[in-house]
Parts: sequence; C-alpha cells; structure tokens
Amino acid sequence: MTMPITLKDITIHPVVEQQGAWFDALGFFPALSKEVLDENRAWLAPEFLDPTDKLVFCIQSFVIKTPHHNILIDACVGNHKPRPTRPFWHMMNSDRFEKALAGTGVTVRDIDYVMCTHLHTDHVGWNTRLDNGRWVPTFPKAKYIMADRELEHWTQREKDNAASVPWITDSVLPIIAAKRAQIVKSDFAFNEQVQFIPTPGHTIDHYSVLVGRSGDDALITGDMIHSPMQGKYPDIGMMSDYDSGQAGLTRRQVFDRFCEEPTILCATHFPAPSTARVRRWGDGYKFVAAGG
Ligand SMILES: [Zn+2]
Repeated sequence: MTMPITLKDITIHPVVEQQGAWFDALGFFPALSKEVLDENRAWLAPEFLDPTDKLVFCIQSFVIKTPHHNILIDACVGNHKPRPTRPFWHMMNSDRFEKALAGTGVTVRDIDYVMCTHLHTDHVGWNTRLDNGRWVPTFPKAKYIMADRELEHWTQREKDNAASVPWITDSVLPIIAAKRAQIVKSDFAFNEQVQFIPTPGHTIDHYSVLVGRSGDDALITGDMIHSPMQGKYPDIGMMSDYDSGQAGLTRRQVFDRFCEEPTILCATHFPAPSTARVRRWGDGYKFVAAGG
C-alpha cells in the first residue's frame, strides 16, 4: 500500500482502483506531434509511457483525514456501470476500490464528504452503487460537494442526450435526487485547511483541492493535469477538454503559484505514488519526487 502523506494533523491516503495503459499518447493529446513525443520518450518511459506509446495512468481517489472529518476526493470508475465507449471501464466488477479504501482504515460509513473535482466518468463512479436495481449513494452519511456550473453543464448534457453521458445518469443525478449534494462555487473554502481552487478548462468549472496550511500543504489536482508532458508543455490539451486553451492557462497559473514551494502535488492520474513537487523547466515545469 502507498504510504499516506502527513501534514501536521491531516493525512492524505491514495485509494487506487486501477493503474494501466489504455490511451495512445498521440490520440489522447491531439496537439502532440510524433516528433515531440520522440524527443521526450527517454524521460517518459517506462514510468509514464509504455512500450507501445500508451500513457500509464492511475485511477484513484484520495481519503483526507482531518481532525473533524473524513473526506473522499473523487470516486473513480465504480462497479456495474455501463460504459460502452470505454471497454476497460464497462460493467466493472472489482473489489480493488473497496479493498484500497479499507486499507486507509475507513469504511464507506466513515466518509463525511465526497468532493467531486469535476463530473467525468472516472471521477464519479463510486458516488453510487447498485442496490436492488437502483443507484444509491455509496457513502450513506456523506454530502457530495459539486461546483454549481459544472453540475448545471452536465445536467443539461444529460437532458439533451442521456445516452452520451451515462455516468451522469447513474452516478450524479441519483445523488441530487437523494438530496445529498452540496452545491458550491468552485472557489469554495470548506474550512481553513481545505480550500477549493478553480481550475477550469478540462471541464467548465473544474476545481482542485488545497489541503493543509501554507508551507505544509498539498494540492489534489483532479484532472487539471493528466501527464507530466503537460508540465513540460502546459498548453497541450487532452482529447475531452472543454476548453484546452483555458486548461493551458490554468496549468501555467497553478504551476507558477506552486513552483519552488514545498506544496506536494497529488496528481490524480500520475502513476503511483502520484506525488511530486513542481519546479521550473525551460518554458514549462517538471515534477520532482516529493518523498514520504
Ligand atoms: Zn476528467
């Protein structure tokens, strides 16, 4: 099991559902050329790029234990969910998430809040579970915190064409129907030690979560970055971005703010241990080991 990150009275525990290589790098980053990929292969492989030029990704949540609350950030892919366009996530039936959650020492009943950085399929799956043919909240006591414009956007998409966004139907709307959503602005301050940072672009109202106190903190990125290639080249967008130009500006802003700082990045899709500190690298940024 990956070691938790300790920040004074807070611990951050990765909950890994899957790690693997599913997406071809050039398809995933449409603006990336074969030449640029070739130039960078030496430092990307094998950790971030497999021998067939697929990106190595982790699918994970983070459990944040504070003195007052247990918080889950993002909710992976989930079980029994129809995902016809993503065969590797279609109708999954795995105990990996459950076991990884148990490894952090909490159960679904202990989670007080679920924070949804954005409403994409691999971040909302475990919001719900199947119970006698119905989708019910997996975390029976939790409030699920979502950004207002993000929810509005995806609710409309679902109304327009439900078949194109099955994860909204089975993993987001049942939370709203059960009155378990807390709808906030994407710069919401949950408390002094847990604050949202708006990181729009990948989706319309994406947020990242800054945990801890200045000088002793960590940023849970969500999908504001997928691969360290987007550090070296912050303007490279990924295939399902809402606005890749805005996503690039967001990366520059966030990495400018945290580079040369002790802040630990918990980069959701980076392969385990998924943690790093940001440093300048030419016109872009690199990620150096964060240690324990
Ligand atoms: Zn995403």
